[in-house]
Amino acid sequence: MPETVFEVDQSKSMRDQAVPGHNRWHPDIPLATMVRPGSEFRVECREWTDAQLGNNDSANDVRDVDLSVAHMLSGPIGVEGAEPGDLLVVDILDLGPCQGPQEYGDAPGQGWGYTGIFSKQNGGGFLTDEYPDAAKAIWDFHGQVATSRHLPGVRYTGITHPGLFGTAPSAELLARWNRREQALIDRDPDRVPPLALPPLVQSSLGGQATGSLAEQIAREGARTVPARENGGNHDIKNFTRGSRVYYPVHVADAKLSGGDLHFSQGDGEITFCGAIEMGGFIDFGVDLIKGGMETYGVTTNPIFMPGNVEPRYSEFLTFIGISVDADDTNEYLDATLAYKRACLNAVEYLKKFGYTGEQAYLLLGSAPIEGRVSGVVDIPNACCSLYLPTAIFDFDIRPSAAGPAKADRGMSAVAG
Ligand code: ZN
Repeated sequence: MPETVFEVDQSKSMRDQAVPGHNRWHPDIPLATMVRPGSEFRVECREWTDAQLGNNDSANDVRDVDLSVAHMLSGPIGVEGAEPGDLLVVDILDLGPCQGPQEYGDAPGQGWGYTGIFSKQNGGGFLTDEYPDAAKAIWDFHGQVATSRHLPGVRYTGITHPGLFGTAPSAELLARWNRREQALIDRDPDRVPPLALPPLVQSSLGGQATGSLAEQIAREGARTVPARENGGNHDIKNFTRGSRVYYPVHVADAKLSGGDLHFSQGDGEITFCGAIEMGGFIDFGVDLIKGGMETYGVTTNPIFMPGNVEPRYSEFLTFIGISVDADDTNEYLDATLAYKRACLNAVEYLKKFGYTGEQAYLLLGSAPIEGRVSGVVDIPNACCSLYLPTAIFDFDIRPSAAGPAKADRGMSAVAG
């Protein structure tokens, strides 16, 4: 096991750790530790909300979650010799729940994780117009496999990955983010859910910063929800073990930070907290390509090589969506709408087997489904597809003349 350079005690908030992490992006968050190019090391992580969610049968905690706390990140980790313009090479050597799947406890990642549907009034999700109320599924870990008392009839192998890692932005890049996201918010400032999230002083944590520096980080720091030029919250399920990511370096020492570990996730992470969320550990190897941003033209977003360890499913039932809304409005090559329609088509299908719409939505967010942009040129309809592995069900999910195997399949945790 490599040396642990960022430690987390899962019985404590990130704020109360010996070296606390942070929940905003800012160039001046003080380094938590320093590593050398060529080294391998372990980073421990809290679950992204700092463990506000419990292993219980109520979704009140999802409904009431305080999103100003998110994402609780570990870091920043400085890399010796890194300078703006370099590419930081990050190998994901290993990752998993807290100390492996056998440790049980109250924090997500201690033998269990969860998937949540956020209330439309508090974060929302991809299908928030159709499913506006909070719901939750608790998943139990069995080695690589997840099962849920809230989703009987399903078990699958997780594609374990970090939702969020990235380098620190420069002051200039941070100012650009804040400018352009405010311009987006200004298009419809009262929208629910909001179009974007501006800096927020409430609940800001700037690592070991104190006094006026902590206040400056709280005032200026970018929220961690979107992916940006530093990497950030990609939620790409294929950032699994064996991946190599090339992050642009925008500040001296690169300042690598992250967290939001996922036991599993479907493409799109559609419920917003649609992965199986957990705390745990991640082992990295790092190196540098000096001047690599310009050499390879990687100046806007990271590039990566996917991991080669992932669940092996060979048969899929595939749902198709096109850019035509439920009221028959035709949009022009709108791939987001097309993927949404593919998801809703899958939900309707799964309801025929006895699942509630919320259960189906939670399943599509968390199971290792493949989402594809299939066609974006055949005017006027974009076409997206969603590949659902048939082997994750303990009954036959395929259409047949005999009809669907309908059964009482329980329900997700709901708020109330
Ligand atoms: Zn997540």
